[in-house]
Amino acid sequence: MKVSFIDLQAQYQAMQQEIDEAMAHTITHSAFIKSAAVKDFEAQFASYLGAGHVISCGNGTDSMEILLRVMDVGPGDEVIVPAMSWISTSEVVATAGATPVFVDVDPQTYTLDVTLTEAHITRKTKAIIPVHLYGHPADMSSIMALAEKHTLNVIEDCAQAHGAGIQGRKIGTWGHAASFSFFPTKNLGAFGDAGAMIVQNDAWAQEARMIAHHGQESRHQHRVHGRNSRMDGLQAAILSAKLPYLDQWVGLRIRKAALYDALLADVPQITIPIVKPDCRHAYHLYVVRAENRDMLKQYLADRDIDSLIHYPVASPFQPCYASMHHKDEDFPIASRYQQEILSLPIYPELPEEAIRHVVQTIKTFYAR
Ligand SMILES: *Cc1c(COP(=O)(O)O)cnc(C)c1O
Repeated sequence: MKVSFIDLQAQYQAMQQEIDEAMAHTITHSAFIKSAAVKDFEAQFASYLGAGHVISCGNGTDSMEILLRVMDVGPGDEVIVPAMSWISTSEVVATAGATPVFVDVDPQTYTLDVTLTEAHITRKTKAIIPVHLYGHPADMSSIMALAEKHTLNVIEDCAQAHGAGIQGRKIGTWGHAASFSFFPTKNLGAFGDAGAMIVQNDAWAQEARMIAHHGQESRHQHRVHGRNSRMDGLQAAILSAKLPYLDQWVGLRIRKAALYDALLADVPQITIPIVKPDCRHAYHLYVVRAENRDMLKQYLADRDIDSLIHYPVASPFQPCYASMHHKDEDFPIASRYQQEILSLPIYPELPEEAIRHVVQTIKTFYAR
């Protein structure tokens, strides 16, 4: 039995008519750029989140770059980021001309370890970018309290956590700003690149929109040097068709994760993901820690079961940060976990038999 990591066709087939109609409408109206569909999606996503302005843009990475600029982060400044994330989170800090300051992650949730964060705050620190990694919310109440104490701005990186929440309040509405990616494989995915900024303050919302549109304040009035970062009409129409299903899809991810949890509970070589009280985990990824990880991954691959590693080299140890001379001891959790983490297949349509087969194969591996 072949088990693929993700199956984007399954989702498309389940809603093909709605998607095809949305695309056909965009094409017959040539509503490609700055169309009503973009404004509509922004309004729908804002109402889904329940707070803040939504400003769409080209992709998730752009959204964080623009937000840092809105917050006036630049050369000489420092921004705190977790040691485990996709490269975008620290990359945008460097693009802004500032320095990413890595902090190790919480050993249970894989998100920024808030107990270690304060020691890294200096007079140069301007912002914190917590990441809701794999779909588990970062500890936002503690992060916001720390940010308040030191007058720092907080940008939530929500790229892996559409649909996650804390105490019933959606992630993306806790920080001063937040960033979403709609890359095709995310919990809410477009058919290409797309992203959005969430901003909780009117002036910043205006500024963010202006920067994303060539610094244009009004037509042909370019107040600052901005850039071109747009969500196009096709992506907006597709995202609007998909948004009503997001909570249902996250619910299915939670069910798949619960089945994995139950079946893996008696495998001592595997540590399953935990969910903190009051948190809704959006399970963008189902990440376990496994003894003998690399051999297990190969064993699964030999039996047609896909698995991935998010990420095999933790950010501080990437070649682009070599000049910072980070050592394993600086990030004991991230450096150990990069050898142990394994992402098993998860997506809303993943059949239960596939999960049973994956777990049975894992058990056979450890029983050898
Ligand atoms: C996907 C992702 C991004 C970037 O999104 P793009 O739309 O690909 O630029 C940023 N942060 C995290 C944690 C991600 O997983």
